[in-house]
Amino acid sequence: MVNLINSIFRKLTSPSECLRYPFVKRELPEGTRGRIDIEIDKCIFCGACEKRCPANALKVTRDPKSWTLNPYSCIICGYCIEVCPKKCIIAHKEHYSPNV
Ligand code: SF4
Ligand code: SF4
Repeated sequence: MVNLINSIFRKLTSPSECLRYPFVKRELPEGTRGRIDIEIDKCIFCGACEKRCPANALKVTRDPKSWTLNPYSCIICGYCIEVCPKKCIIAHKEHYSPNV
């Protein structure tokens, strides 16, 4: 009984472990894979990322020059980042917004 009272008292007097979302947002840990983005100016439209993508989330064409990502298919595996010869694909910690 004493242990129970001590435990309740400790919980009542210690700081809360919950965040008051949406007023306080959680800091995402390093290495979080949130969403994929591209620096299109560096892209040479070689198509290596499209070939490597296991989810068929990428579509690259040379003529006309276009690079398109389907965020609903992307599983954020990062393979496209690894194969890109120009290192122009980036993974952000933040996730896709519902407006994508
Ligand atoms: S692998 Fe890199 S350079 Fe090639 S098309 Fe994809 S993003 Fe562009
Ligand atoms: S992170 Fe993976 S699933 Fe998403 S576009 Fe790149 S290769 Fe495809």
